[in-house]
Amino acid sequence: RAKLEGRGALRFFEQHLHDELVRQHHLVAQLEQALERGELCLHYQPQVSAVSGCIENLEALLRWIPAEGPPISPAEFIPLAERSGLIHRLSDWVIEEACRQQRSWRDRGFATQRIDINVSGRQLLHKGALARFEACLLRHGLEPQDIGIELTENVLIEADDSVLEELRKLYHRGVRIAIDDFGTGYSSLSYLKHFPVTALKIDRSFVRDAPCQPEDRAIMEAAIFIGHRLGLEVVAEGVENAEQLTLLREMRCDLIQGFYFYRPMPAEAIERLLAGLVPGHGHLSG
Ligand code: C2E
Ligand code: MG
Ligand code: MG
Ligand code: MG
Repeated sequence: RAKLEGRGALRFFEQHLHDELVRQHHLVAQLEQALERGELCLHYQPQVSAVSGCIENLEALLRWIPAEGPPISPAEFIPLAERSGLIHRLSDWVIEEACRQQRSWRDRGFATQRIDINVSGRQLLHKGALARFEACLLRHGLEPQDIGIELTENVLIEADDSVLEELRKLYHRGVRIAIDDFGTGYSSLSYLKHFPVTALKIDRSFVRDAPCQPEDRAIMEAAIFIGHRLGLEVVAEGVENAEQLTLLREMRCDLIQGFYFYRPMPAEAIERLLAGLVPGHGHLSG
């Protein structure tokens, strides 16, 4: 009997796995169509100065809003795109779109902010990916400091020498390179010595609990300290309330990103914000 039940459980599991694979396959096909039909867009989330509250940079975040149905999170479709190989076309689109938008903002006098794009592991491992990035900047008449990139620790650790060489070139040309989700990868700190980076983004899991958890607060403070001692800019992700902001300001964090100030928003909303047509957040006044 136990054996029979075991078999039933296995069959149930296999069915479940099968359904999940079918669903993923379907999603990849839909994503490819979305790319072709122009159903993807970038939203932008401001990073503000911890001292002044002024908008400094924007992070570009990919959005897929299907014609029917609810938006699908990049946390779900990026890994799928990586596994299916669609990531290369997807990331070419992101780079092109970020450059086009930046060019358009520059041309219309919105001249202060840098746009940072997220770069995934598979994307970076693709030969020539970084060269294409540079070509795109050139094509749009942009400077290396106009578009930055964000990579996770794991991507850096897994990168081979030729990729690191390409990254180093970008770094020396003046492209800003941030380590995303800092503190969550499986890595020793020694990699910070070798990699060409300009900023650390402290993962939001530490920021979230810092006000009530001494351990998270300690890690956050240590990350800011290390970043500064290495001459890096430090950004806090996922700042949602005044307590977190107060701590981060006390610890001299440079930039703040999170819902407390701004959510990711479409380009037009950013324009209204930068044009002063909507009030900014007065959290830092007084
Ligand atoms: P990430 O690069 O760490 O981006 C930050 C994520 O945190 C975004 O989620 C953003 O909407 C969210 N966030 C910002 N502030 C807050 C806050 O105060 N509270 C909370 N709870 N969340 C906040 P999103 O847009 O869903 O993106 C998820 C991940 O998908 C990104 O994490 C990034 O790893 C990936 N991703 C997004 N766009 C792209 C892209 O164009 N290319 C690649 N390769 N990956 C992307
Ligand atoms: Mg990011
Ligand atoms: Mg992040
Ligand atoms: Mg993240």
